Amino acid sequence: MLFPLGQLRSTDGKRVVYRVHAIKRQKQAKKTISFYKYNFGFREPFQILIDGTFCQAALKNKIQIKEQMPKYLMGEVQLCTTSCALKELETLGKQLYGAKIILQRFQVRKCPHFKEPVSASECLLSMLEETNPHHYFVATQDYTVTTGLKKIPGVPLLYIILNTIVLDKPSQASLDHVQAVQLGELVSPAQQQSIRTLKEEQGIGQKDRERRGKKRKRKQSNPNPLSCLKKKKKGVPTPPLKKTEQEGKRKRSRHKKRKVEAGDGTAANT
Ligand SMILES: [Zn+2]
Repeated sequence: MLFPLGQLRSTDGKRVVYRVHAIKRQKQAKKTISFYKYNFGFREPFQILIDGTFCQAALKNKIQIKEQMPKYLMGEVQLCTTSCALKELETLGKQLYGAKIILQRFQVRKCPHFKEPVSASECLLSMLEETNPHHYFVATQDYTVTTGLKKIPGVPLLYIILNTIVLDKPSQASLDHVQAVQLGELVSPAQQQSIRTLKEEQGIGQKDRERRGKKRKRKQSNPNPLSCLKKKKKGVPTPPLKKTEQEGKRKRSRHKKRKVEAGDGTAANT
């Protein structure tokens, strides 16, 4: 699938190389999005929590967030922010006026700081709570927010670098969480035991065993459909192969005759 970069440079110059990078970036994003969909229950429309630093970077790099975000994430998005993030931009003054104008266009989500606004970074992190239950993507250039959200499993991070939006790879906390779930570590052994006893009391545990038994019986009673297919395939293609071989032989003999005739013709001409 990957083309040698040298050849692409010689045919179409920089543009082609740039396209290769864009394809790689999109592929990586697709992989990361499906990671969050599968392991953390993310669904469209994706909720994108944005702060002033991201808007400022978008403005500098001439990125239209509303246009680019759904394209890059390959799905519907809801762009949102908090009143604390907006208030912070207002207090920072003229230099961030453009960023404020952009941020104002997004939905304002309720935060717990209605009476006393806090810094944008503190507010954004508080919106994620401990498990990011509202499935927010966070779009920020703020170091405090970035390092903070990486400690919470299941928070996708979006940032701007080299004129493009980038979806960060899953954090170690996210990867560890997924592994722990797969290993069954997140439910303690004591809890697992109490779940088992509860199931047995309710008679659910026995039903599970019966279902498993039925599935096994089905597999044994039905013949494997693949084994049937193989026999047919082996039987059918062999006769036509022989025919083609015979035809090939006949053709060869005709060719020989023609060659001989042609040879005679040329001999006659000279
Ligand atoms: Zn707030």
